[in-house]
Amino acid sequence: MSIFNFCYRIVPCLADPARRSSLGLKAALVVLHIVYAGTLFLLYSDLIEKTKEEPWYTAIYLLLFVAALIQYFVTSCSSPGYVLDAMRDLNEKNSLYRRSSMLSKQPASSKSGSFVITVEGSQSERNIPGSNVTSWTKLVLDMYPPGTSIRTLTCSYCNVEQENCQRSCEPPRAKHCHDCDKCVLQFDHHCVWLGTCIGRGNHCRFWWYIFEETALCLWTGILYITCLKANISRVWWKDAIMILLLVTLSIALIFLLLLLIFHSYLILTCQTTYELVRRRRIPYLRGIPERVYPFSKGVCRNLYDFCFARSSLYSLERLPTAMELEEKSRPYTCLDFLTGRCC
Ligand SMILES: [Zn+2]
Ligand SMILES: [Zn+2]
Repeated sequence: MSIFNFCYRIVPCLADPARRSSLGLKAALVVLHIVYAGTLFLLYSDLIEKTKEEPWYTAIYLLLFVAALIQYFVTSCSSPGYVLDAMRDLNEKNSLYRRSSMLSKQPASSKSGSFVITVEGSQSERNIPGSNVTSWTKLVLDMYPPGTSIRTLTCSYCNVEQENCQRSCEPPRAKHCHDCDKCVLQFDHHCVWLGTCIGRGNHCRFWWYIFEETALCLWTGILYITCLKANISRVWWKDAIMILLLVTLSIALIFLLLLLIFHSYLILTCQTTYELVRRRRIPYLRGIPERVYPFSKGVCRNLYDFCFARSSLYSLERLPTAMELEEKSRPYTCLDFLTGRCC
């Protein structure tokens, strides 16, 4: 076994060439963090004095520093929720259910958690034309309005005939990522900085990463300003280095703050970056007024689903019916505000 295989076994995400290619970027990020914090400790002598007097202050700063880096690597190695994995998960549940139903001799169709487990060859599947129609296809078709063709849902980039003759049908909100070369559930965007897609599986982690990085950037900026204020009559080149680093830090902070606000807005309204940017080009969003968020279940529920989505990583969202959309597009009245319709 080569050393590479050994490394891939320890860190499985490195086996993916797309993720491996961002290793240089990851190293650059770590170096950048060390440069900004290291310069501070090297040139800001008062900080060392302050650490001796109030060790908790520096300890909390260093804790945030380490937490932001750990969050970066955890998010980078996390799965965004690939459609293929969801198919595999359904297969496993199906075979498990089949085995248990054979043992207990119960009817072979039932509901389990958020998945409708349908065994191949059941009545509903025979109604759909096509030789390789399986439980996954049936499940995905159920998410769309009646009469939707399987052909329009099949991803032409993923291997069409997947294992166990299942078709790689895209559930609503899933999209094929050309960088990862896989379909991603609730696709948000492909993050070059992290070297992975952001989707249903890791959007929450991604938000926490931006939050921690913003907090770290802000705190470091404050320390730089305090240092510059405290030591004006110092060697000029030291001040020049600190000012240069402070300027770049400020630019990064503005970018991070905007990103944090943007993603917080997306979470509260249950949207993805892809849906917001390509709204007019996505078939299931066409014709829906701009101010209507079709997948929103109210601010509190959206927030709850976002934070606790891990337990139902592969559960799928069906498209809202015409009646539900009409209800969502109804203008707000005073009574709606009192009853908390938006929550
Ligand atoms: Zn695909
Ligand atoms: Zn991707």
